[in-house]
Amino acid sequence: MLIVQKYGGTSVGSVERISSVAQRVIRTRQQNNQVVVVVSAMGKTTDTLVNLAKEISANPSRREMDMLLATGEQVSIALVSMALEALGQPAISLTGGQVGIYTEAEHSRARILEIHPHRILRHLEEGKVVVIAGFQGISSRDELEITTLGRGGSDTSAVAIAAAIAADICEIYTDVQGILTTDPRVVPEAQLMREITSDEMLELASLGAKVLHPRAVEIARNYGIPLVVRSSWTEHPGTKVISIQPTSRPLVGLEINSSVDAVELDTNQAKVALLRIPDRPGVAAKLFKEIAHQQVNVDLIIQSIHEGNTNDIAFTVTEESLKQAQAVAVAISPVLRSDPSNLEQAEVIVEEEVVKISIAGAGMIGRPGIAAGMFQALAEAGINIEMISTSEVKVSCVIESKKAQLALDVLCKAFAVEGKINSTPAIINRETPPVRGVALDNNQAKVAIRNIPDRPGMSAQIFAILAKEKISVDMIIQSQRCRVIQGEVTRDIAFTVAQADAHSALNLLEELAEKEGFGEVIVDSDIAKVSIVGAAMVGQAGVAAEFFRALALENINIQMIATSEIKISCVVARTDGERAVAKVHQAFNLARGEAIAIPSSTPQYPSLS
Ligand code: ADP
Ligand code: ASP
Ligand code: MG
Repeated sequence: MLIVQKYGGTSVGSVERISSVAQRVIRTRQQNNQVVVVVSAMGKTTDTLVNLAKEISANPSRREMDMLLATGEQVSIALVSMALEALGQPAISLTGGQVGIYTEAEHSRARILEIHPHRILRHLEEGKVVVIAGFQGISSRDELEITTLGRGGSDTSAVAIAAAIAADICEIYTDVQGILTTDPRVVPEAQLMREITSDEMLELASLGAKVLHPRAVEIARNYGIPLVVRSSWTEHPGTKVISIQPTSRPLVGLEINSSVDAVELDTNQAKVALLRIPDRPGVAAKLFKEIAHQQVNVDLIIQSIHEGNTNDIAFTVTEESLKQAQAVAVAISPVLRSDPSNLEQAEVIVEEEVVKISIAGAGMIGRPGIAAGMFQALAEAGINIEMISTSEVKVSCVIESKKAQLALDVLCKAFAVEGKINSTPAIINRETPPVRGVALDNNQAKVAIRNIPDRPGMSAQIFAILAKEKISVDMIIQSQRCRVIQGEVTRDIAFTVAQADAHSALNLLEELAEKEGFGEVIVDSDIAKVSIVGAAMVGQAGVAAEFFRALALENINIQMIATSEIKISCVVARTDGERAVAKVHQAFNLARGEAIAIPSSTPQYPSLS
């Protein structure tokens, strides 16, 4: 077999660790395999280098940062190679440039365009183990600029190399036994999963589970690379990431071709919106508990933020369930209204003639222009968007039924892909629990823009401006409530961006708001995003209700909600994030068995710092 093994920072964090990596590689080699090793920088080297740069300059150029950070991996490849040779195994270390890992000329976040496999294959033929620096590449052949792929990017290097040399398997060795139900640093009772689908893993990884770089999962999924995450300390088999056999794709433009796989139309949808309900813990829990009692399945759920002390929650259900859902919403709103903090009148709105149209694909991660392109295509066709809900791998819009076919046509054309009507996601088997994992993302900031005119093209404009500055947007939520300002209906839009981008997003949007006459732009970085993921939650009533109930019991207020078929995310106050993850993990019964010990945090495995 041809095997790619990737060893992360802690796995090569000391001389002892490097020699045990070398021994594992040799054992694999002796079992009649050819081995390519991809390594990260030792221990916390990359962080140390970042801090060094900060001491020299407040704002170093991205080019010089790449020059600096790429050195970390170069140390490890040389040492791993030496360790192999010292044990009698011929080996050769190679940098990203030497291997021919060509990337875009985008410093600090380059995407891989192509990998030339010849040199790797030649050295393998000579009987050598090839040790390659992860995280780095080289720009075009003329410039030969050293680039890096973004923090955590060695996973992506490894899977891309596996695709380029058509390896039989790519193994990611790290400091935990595999993929766990949540981050064991936050919840020590997290449990190992034997298997997970690449769609589930993509959501988890992009929602903050740092065990795998999301772009690595994207490549594994797109090219059908068998991927395993396991511990470099034990022989435990770890977790398999399962991808359905993909259609064959060219290896040129590896990380940039076909970012959207399909346009999906779901015609069996009806919308229920509750306006002006109180903004306090327990409200969403109460509503969705009652709905789950009726065995009604909810699909999209969104809750946006508002001025004052009220919120709106909107959700979609199948057309057959609309009457029941409406009855619950109407029955519950007087209960909510009797709340003394709710001074305004609550109101229930239903709409039957709606459909959900989505673009789906792993390649949307970190490519903000794609959602903007969807909104643009809909706007050009004169289609107004009633609800938007996004995850990293899907953007869904609720629009009026009349425009369904038109929307399908324009989006299939815009993204040059096939349309799918009323399809369902893949699950491993029927026994799979509805929720597989919980993720915490502390790196997001929430942005809200008030009073945007409710006509086609407005979201397109907003997200195109952000996309131009390469600002990725997640959890886009358009409010249900309207306000008439100078004779025009307006709505609010809220979304999240990476904290690092919050400041530039604010500047760009304030400029736009001024020009277009929108209302205020508000940014809040003091938030955490807590998400649950599971392909089997489709068609199961009560999953959302359980999630919201767990938060309500802890008196945690939900600021925003967004869902896709296989995940539900809530924005809560930063200080509530870890507690929320622990309680939600417990509520879904994911915490059975013993606590997980992380080797890097125990003294017998010192790591470089
Ligand atoms: P490496 O240096 O090997 O790439 P990372 O630190 O990047 O390792 O990723 C492994 C860490 O990811 C674990 O130590 C764990 O704290 C964290 N993590 C977050 N979510 C999960 C999860 N769902 N399963 C396993 N590990 C997770
Ligand atoms: N060394 C790089 C980092 O710390 C890449 C990696 O470890 O995956 O981000
Ligand atoms: Mg990592």
